[in-house]
Amino acid sequence: MDYVRVGSLAELGNALGRDGATLIAGGTDLMVKMRAGSVRPRLLVDISRVDELREVSMHPSGLTIGSAALVAEVLASPTVSTNYPLLATVLRSLGSTQIRNRATLGGNLANASPAADSPLALLAYDARVTLAGAGTERTLPLHEFFLGPGRTALRRGEYIRSIDLPTPRTDWDVFFHKVGRRRALTIAITSVAGLIALRGRAVVDVRVTAGSVAPTPIRLRAVEDLVRRRELDGEQIAAAHATALREVSPIDDVRATALYRRTVTADLVARFLHEASESTPTSP
Ligand SMILES: Cc1cc2nc3c(=O)[nH]c(=O)nc-3n(C[C@H](O)[C@H](O)[C@H](O)COP(=O)(O)OP(=O)(O)OC[C@H]3O[C@@H](n4cnc5c(N)ncnc54)[C@H](O)[C@@H]3O)c2cc1C
Repeated sequence: MDYVRVGSLAELGNALGRDGATLIAGGTDLMVKMRAGSVRPRLLVDISRVDELREVSMHPSGLTIGSAALVAEVLASPTVSTNYPLLATVLRSLGSTQIRNRATLGGNLANASPAADSPLALLAYDARVTLAGAGTERTLPLHEFFLGPGRTALRRGEYIRSIDLPTPRTDWDVFFHKVGRRRALTIAITSVAGLIALRGRAVVDVRVTAGSVAPTPIRLRAVEDLVRRRELDGEQIAAAHATALREVSPIDDVRATALYRRTVTADLVARFLHEASESTPTSP
């Protein structure tokens, strides 16, 4: 196996044109697969030193995160914690300090695990991904990027260049809960993230996402449509719970049964909405 560390986008473009080229960023997913023998790259192209892929910058239309920005670097950005608190909350639960110091956002997306953490926040914030290849560049909504477990819209010779988040509302309340076998360093059995903006008890806008309950991380759009522009009372929360039960399509695996995942996910959706409704003062 050959290895090349590229230092610029031009070098990356050339290296990706070579036969059997596989990108490596932090290696926290890829090395595990290589050790297990499920991936055998002929040429590893290391993108960890490409400065253009490491930017985390706020601009008038939102936030751009380079695909090779480390999770720890994204977390260290005051812009992220101030403007995208759900992203910061979710990333704090990704792996351990050691993993966050190597893992990248681009790797988390390209690995396309239904249990990955960062997509929950990124889908909620309506993120888009920019994919670049030999002389080409295209941008997709993140939900179109994921095609299934381990499958993405990346074509041969393409890489994720950046992740773009639009300017967020300033009045979002944030929810994230990840259920695993233990509290830290755990793969999600199910996870739910949410953003909600309320006026009194009326839902002005809402986003709900879930992981490990479908072939890809998903937005629970039926739940969102049900509660948006409605009063958040007990009846509405019960209806959202029932809708969430129907909207997810988990599987049985070594970590949990489909029934457990479905039930806990719906419970978390109800908890998110209940906590939001409790946080607003009721009229006298
Ligand atoms: C102990 C441990 C704990 C973990 N805990 C969590 C967790 O809690 N939550 C979670 O979500 N994940 C977790 N992971 C998984 C992993 O750390 C993340 O998915 C990480 O973000 C992957 O990033 P990376 O830079 O290490 O990717 P790499 O391993 O370098 O690459 C992963 C895949 O993405 C491709 N790739 C990388 N960068 C790009 C790019 N820019 N464009 C196109 N393709 C690219 C590679 O070719 C490879 O196929 C854990 C892993 C370990 C080992």
